[in-house]
Order: sequence, then C-alpha cells, then structure tokens
Amino acid sequence: TSYGFRQVADGEKQGLVNDVFHKVAKRYDIMNDVMSAGMHRVWKDAMIAALSPRKEEGYKTLDVAGGTGDIAFRIVEASGRRAHTTVLDINGSMLAVGAERAAKKKLSDNLDFVEANAESLPFENNSFDAYTVAFGIRNVPCIDVALSEAYRVLKRGGRLLVLEFSEVEMPLLDKFYEEWSFRAIPQFGKMITGDAEPYQYLVESIRKFPNQENFATMIRNAGFSRVTYTNYTGGIAALHSGWKL
Ligand code: SAM
Repeated sequence: TSYGFRQVADGEKQGLVNDVFHKVAKRYDIMNDVMSAGMHRVWKDAMIAALSPRKEEGYKTLDVAGGTGDIAFRIVEASGRRAHTTVLDINGSMLAVGAERAAKKKLSDNLDFVEANAESLPFENNSFDAYTVAFGIRNVPCIDVALSEAYRVLKRGGRLLVLEFSEVEMPLLDKFYEEWSFRAIPQFGKMITGDAEPYQYLVESIRKFPNQENFATMIRNAGFSRVTYTNYTGGIAALHSGWKL
C-alpha cells in the first residue's frame, strides 16, 4: 500500500530519525500518551514485570534508545532504588529531557545517560545483567548489528527484552489500527508539533518492522537462547525475550 509519502533509503534513515526526535524531544512524553491513548504505560509496566529486576545493589542494566527515561525509571523503582541503569540514546535532546526528569524524581544517583549508537556500544563485553529497548530498535538502521552488540555487552545469564510495535493478530483490531496509525497519528503529530511528515515516517517504520516470528529468528541468529515473545493488545506491541546462556 502506498500512503502517499516518500520511501526512505537505509542510508538516509538515521538522519531522518535524529531530526524527528530532536524536534519532538520536549513534547515526546505527551505525544506518547496521545498517540497510544495511554497504552504505552501499560505495555512498559508489563515489560518491567517480565524483567522483574533484582532488588540488589550491583544489579546493572542498560536501556538502549532510552530516550526520556521511561523504562530506566521503572527499572530503578522496581528494584527498590537499588539497580543502576545506563540510559543510552543517539539523541542528546531526548537524553537531556530524561536527565531533567530523573533529577525531579530524585533518581539521578541510580542512572547515567550516555549519548551513543546502539550499533556500536561504548561498553566492555559481559557488562550488564539486562539489556532493554522499548520502541527503539525499529529506528536503528542495522538491527542485526544492534542485536549482536546487545549479546556482546550482556553477562552470561543476562536477559534481553525488546518491546516494539508488531503485527496485529486480531481481526477488526487490525483494520482499526491501520486507520488510527496512518490517519490519526500524523494528524496528531501535526497538531502538536506542526509537522506531519516525521510521524508518517515513524508509522511507516512500524509497518516495515519484522513480525513476531521473524524478529524472534533475528534474536536467535544473534546468539540468544530461549527466545520467546508475548503479544500485548492483540499484537499492537510485542515483548521479545532472550537469554545469553
Ligand atoms: N525507549 C523510550 C520510550 O519507550 O519512551 C524512547 C523511544 S523513542 C520512540 C525512540 C528512541 O530511539 C529515540 O530517543 C531515538 O533517538 C532513539 N534512537 C534512534 N536511533 C538510535 C540508534 N541508532 N542508537 C540509539 N538510539 C537510537
């Protein structure tokens, strides 16, 4: 299907993604609530419940494409403020909003913010107990490279969790979702940020992202064991899990 906007070549992709998030950083959190009708909070809570962070000092996690900190804050809180989480993002504007929110929540001691690319992580091998990424991996041009970096920096016994939009597997919901995402979301984007095109691109990137089974295969190919997934809201989002054993 063509929705009347241009296709984006791979080489151009990261630049476009960076522009989108620089533009929306300050309004990102409110946009998330509007566009997912609040559902992103439920999915993120479910992701943290699945992770079940250890309530131990020394428990170290990495949240990639961590943006304004939603996942990292939840992990630290769920660990009884014992975990240490590194929020990594390629975009300094998103991290700046995250750092400000962390200070307000008095969580700064448990967090650090690193500006870097998911395809080339500035950490040593076997460094983290868990690697999380929420609604970020579909923006990375080489997903297989990002997954092998995830594998590299995890400790043996470490856990990978990826929350991402996925293939809707419920009749009727899929039709509604198409309408919502292709018509409503770019319109909301335009209302709130004055520009629909970045949101058209983001919606397109959801459509291009591999479905549940294909993404599970990519995770296995990166070396992970016991790879499983759970659909949320009929598959609008899915949580993929894997272990470095
Ligand atoms: N995880 C946060 C959440 O769930 O609210 C933010 C998700 S936001 C939709 C996607 C994030 O991916 C943006 O902050 C963007 O800057 C980041 N990103 C895009 N490409 C990246 C890359 N190659 N490496 C690291 N982060 C990237």
